[in-house]
Amino acid sequence: MRRVNRALVEPPSGLFYSEAKPPSEILRARKYYLNHGSESGQELNRSKNPSFWAYRNSGVRRALEELFHGKCAYCETRYTAVGPVQVEHFRPKGRLLEDRSHPGYWWLAATWENLFPSCVDCNQSRFQSQVAIDGSLTSHLAAPPSGFGNTGSKSSHNYLFFKAKSGKGTSFPILNEEKRITECQAKIGMAAYRSEEPLLINPCDDNPGEHLTYFIDRAALLGLVLPVAKGSARSAEPRPNAETTEIVNHAKELGLCPRGVVSIRLYGLNRVGLVQARTRLLQRLEFLGHLFVDTSKLADEIQAFLKNKRKNKNFIGNNDQMAKLLERAYSSARTTQDHVLKEIHSLTSPAAPYSEMAKAWLDAFISELEAAPELENVEEVA
Ligand SMILES: [Zn+2]
Repeated sequence: MRRVNRALVEPPSGLFYSEAKPPSEILRARKYYLNHGSESGQELNRSKNPSFWAYRNSGVRRALEELFHGKCAYCETRYTAVGPVQVEHFRPKGRLLEDRSHPGYWWLAATWENLFPSCVDCNQSRFQSQVAIDGSLTSHLAAPPSGFGNTGSKSSHNYLFFKAKSGKGTSFPILNEEKRITECQAKIGMAAYRSEEPLLINPCDDNPGEHLTYFIDRAALLGLVLPVAKGSARSAEPRPNAETTEIVNHAKELGLCPRGVVSIRLYGLNRVGLVQARTRLLQRLEFLGHLFVDTSKLADEIQAFLKNKRKNKNFIGNNDQMAKLLERAYSSARTTQDHVLKEIHSLTSPAAPYSEMAKAWLDAFISELEAAPELENVEEVA
């Protein structure tokens, strides 16, 4: 998940921007819930719930596509290749899984800040195959990155495969139900909603990097997302059927970031298909990383050889053809190095799928380059 600045895109028209001029559907919904006593604490008759249309207009879809580069806001998968976007309400508009007596945040149904583009799997709640890492999370994260010298070493990580319900659906868990905002507080600004202490990460309000991290082991590639861990944290057992409260308490006991743990579970950020797609990206980055290192070394060696022409006189002598060939090989190696570097950086750009994981891989790669003094091109990579 990548942080996105919503101010980068002009908000679409037809949505709820001013209490003085709310869309007609919001006025209708307000009247409906006033008459049906949505705050009475009783479960509502769902068959008669008001409908919302403003968020479905093509301007909203276009603006979200531009803002998120055609990617799901939560898992960074590019949906534009396979189908239309699902415009998702961060705070559900029609019902709430955690509180059946709450009507849902209907007054935010047409609020720009509450709308996100989502893929089907992050949005729709259903059982899916998931992957988790077993054992001490801290030791996995603290393990020195293995790269150039260690790529043949075997993985010491154990993985767990399990089925669990994921997909956000109508869920919106918060830390303390007593802080849940209800209809009567609807006129407050969006910033005030943070007081609810949501357990799901909002890509426009939060910095996902404070809650989520990526499993980067260059000798054992697997595109897993992990919760940020403190101290000697252990990885959470999957607990497929656990309630959110239980998951949060367990995460706290283990020293894991609760928002990270809940977001991974509810958005399904370690669904098998998603982990496979991210692993393929890691494999591509590894290929590019090795190509970069190999061409760098080759260019450096040719450069050193050409600098010492006098010393290597016996080899080159007066052979102009050999000298020209070496010049060309040097130039070609440097050009390839530049192209490879551009390609690596393009995979970390905001428009690239799983760009946050690619950034994490690049950080690990740079650390390894810095630790390898024989490579002279580290500055160019960073
Ligand atoms: Zn998604």
